[in-house]
Amino acid sequence: MRALVFDDKLQFVPDISLPELTGAQWLLKIRRAGICNTDLELIDGMYNFSGILGHEFVAEVVEGAPEWVGKPVVGEINVGCGECDFCQKGIPSQCRDRKAVGIHTHPGAFADYLALTERNLHAVPPNIADDAAVFTEPLAAALEVLESTHISPQQRIIVVGVGKLGALVTQVLKLSGAGVIGLVRREKQAQLLDNWGIASAAYEELPKQRAQVVVDCTGTAEGFAIALDLVEARGTIVLKSTYKGKPQADLTQVAVREIRVVGSRCGSFDGALRLLAAGLIDTQSLVDAHYPIEQGLEAFQAAKQPGAMKVLLDF
Ligand SMILES: [Zn+2]
Ligand SMILES: [Zn+2]
Repeated sequence: MRALVFDDKLQFVPDISLPELTGAQWLLKIRRAGICNTDLELIDGMYNFSGILGHEFVAEVVEGAPEWVGKPVVGEINVGCGECDFCQKGIPSQCRDRKAVGIHTHPGAFADYLALTERNLHAVPPNIADDAAVFTEPLAAALEVLESTHISPQQRIIVVGVGKLGALVTQVLKLSGAGVIGLVRREKQAQLLDNWGIASAAYEELPKQRAQVVVDCTGTAEGFAIALDLVEARGTIVLKSTYKGKPQADLTQVAVREIRVVGSRCGSFDGALRLLAAGLIDTQSLVDAHYPIEQGLEAFQAAKQPGAMKVLLDF
């Protein structure tokens, strides 16, 4: 099968062997996959990963329970051991022996086939097109913001960094009725938010210490310091960023102004699929380009461009 493999460098491999099924795994044929910032960090060597990349996908069941064969599915990325205290509590994303598809000790989805544990799979409702279903994983991550802090329609919420993930976070927060502002650096981002009826502003335009909730989706070390400037006393900063480098920030402010800082990662696939099925999230505007899997290296180049949104791989 064809695959995009990272081992010190990213390569397209035309003839890698098919995955072998173990335990409760089903075999999936990948139909569409998305390149995420985590993939770009992985090829920068951030998490010491080697193997097949990719964790955002929609696929078709090839081997599994007969009633599922031929049906489209999406898959959660955290593969828990099933035994540890976190798995027992139903939190496989924090499993003490966690594997993550295409990120940590588990082959990924940038390949014709993927073997994945049955309990990670979710059926895709028939009215969700592949180009939208491929956003289930990042949309679930965006929804997780709602789990991290109480969101009220009275609040002013600022999303710092309107990239691939931030654009989904602003759309999710808008549904709450809160006053959402996207902090943007590019006209393209401002235009996108304007089309969705969401306000945007540059950093200089925003009053300091006036937001009850600030969500950092920048993925940059400066993002946290900006969030700290914007959040009001007793407010909450939600971190969706994984940081390249160590953020420099005045943590005394966190103590003195009694700021809550909450980390947030993966979220509910069921919730994400419901929003997509109801047509409540615009994913179409987020797709920059499609590339066939053979042109995976070009696809990564495109995804790396500053301001790039989602680049999809076709199989
Ligand atoms: Zn991702
Ligand atoms: Zn576990």
